[in-house]
Amino acid sequence: MYSIKEIYKTIQGEGAQSGRAAVFVRFTGCNLWSGKEKHRANSICDFCDTDFIGTDGENGGKYSAEDLIDVIKRIWDSKSKGYVVFTGGEPMLQLDKELIDICKKNNFETAIETNGTIEIDFEIDWVCVSPKSGSILKVFTGDELKVVFPQEEIKLDQLQKLSFNHYFVQPMDSERGEKNTIEAIEFCKKNPQWKLSLQQHKLLGIP
Ligand code: SF4
Repeated sequence: MYSIKEIYKTIQGEGAQSGRAAVFVRFTGCNLWSGKEKHRANSICDFCDTDFIGTDGENGGKYSAEDLIDVIKRIWDSKSKGYVVFTGGEPMLQLDKELIDICKKNNFETAIETNGTIEIDFEIDWVCVSPKSGSILKVFTGDELKVVFPQEEIKLDQLQKLSFNHYFVQPMDSERGEKNTIEAIEFCKKNPQWKLSLQQHKLLGIP
């Protein structure tokens, strides 16, 4: 059984697939933070803005692969080829080949947004890795590398040697958000291999 916080259909707001309709499946739990405020200061990842605790969100619950694809299909609600994004929390704590296979069998293209600390040993159509300062990266290849910017210990010059098709910096959403955006733009101007990713869904106020 997979523990799922929420499942909903929206437009991808970040990175190279921006603007694309997708069903988002948010897995419960992360290996870099408990999700509880009292643990934030001592967690590896301390800037997270996502609620990934429990199964109480929209369409959340505990699902088998068969039940989960039925929900994904109902929410996709289109005869066109489907697109499902597995996110979290950290999806690789739960995502497996069985779920990916059943998605493919049901004509869904699959994507993952992962912190890259758990190896992926099965094929996913679109792999987006977002490394976190202080964690050990284990996924060195994929479609999109998306770095929340700035993060003190992250060495962007080292990361750009990895094998990805797109390299993004995404300004950290914090009280110094505007400054982060200006610095990220300056960084991209000096380092054109990197592109700016904005959280368009937040700018537009959509989930
Ligand atoms: S790795 Fe991602 S989901 Fe986990 S705490 Fe950090 S930002 Fe949140």
